Formats: sequence, C-alpha cells, structure tokens
Amino acid sequence: ITVSPENTTQTCHDCGFVMGSDGTEKLTLADREWTCPQCHTHHIRDHNAALNILEKGFQKQQKA
Ligand SMILES: [Zn+2]
Repeated sequence: ITVSPENTTQTCHDCGFVMGSDGTEKLTLADREWTCPQCHTHHIRDHNAALNILEKGFQKQQKA
C-alpha cells in the first residue's frame, strides 16, 4: 500500500493538529523533535511521521 506523504511530518499523531496552521511555524528539516502546541505531546519527528503513515495505510486498506 502506498500513501501520500503530505503532512505526515507536520501532523500531530495524538490530536491531529497540523503545524503551520493557526499561526504556528511549520517544522523544518532541522527539527528532529518537537512538542505539539495543542496537546503538548513531545514527538520524535520520524516516529510521529511513521505513525501517521501507518494510520493512512490502515485507512486506505479499510476503504479498499
Ligand atoms: Zn497534538
């Protein structure tokens, strides 16, 4: 299964907040870890992105 990588890095896996919205700064490639401004969960950038990609894959599979 392939999924669109769009916003998988910028989206908080816990609450769905998207960095760059509500006047926040988007994460840059230099940001390896970050804290969600909405739910205050601390994320390892690549781990959070991987969870979002996994979830997208599951959603796609359910629709198929
Ligand atoms: Zn969050």
